[in-house]
Amino acid sequence: MDMEAKEYPAREIKLLVVHCSATRPSQSFGVEQLRRCHLERGFSDIGYHFYITRDGTLHHCRPMVQVGAHARGFNLHSLGICYEGGLDEAGRPADTRTPAQRQRLAEVIGHLLRLFPQARVVGHYQLGPDVHKACPCFDAQAEYGE
Ligand SMILES: [Zn+2]
Repeated sequence: MDMEAKEYPAREIKLLVVHCSATRPSQSFGVEQLRRCHLERGFSDIGYHFYITRDGTLHHCRPMVQVGAHARGFNLHSLGICYEGGLDEAGRPADTRTPAQRQRLAEVIGHLLRLFPQARVVGHYQLGPDVHKACPCFDAQAEYGE
């Protein structure tokens, strides 16, 4: 992965927060759609630092030096990583990660943990009891933590 030294944030990174886009398998939600959606919500750009589409492609979104907009109350000391999907066809929360996404996600998180060894990996819903979301629809803490 190309992550250059100038990309390293001066702020302390304590959390790697995993998200899903909350879209269905039949809905293609590429990085441009994601951008449009976040601009419409009033963000300056995509709120996540990384976005992994269904084909396993890693999209560098917000530079790591910039504070993200992905987890209220936790943005200052975290990075946000999102995968495309997270809902089944009926719109229920589901772990829809493709093998390519699983592989890329593990790679990205492994890389970030080497850069920020003090960071913990959590899913969005694992940030606290007041996060009323299923995002990212799997137990990221168990899968990538410790
Ligand atoms: Zn989320």
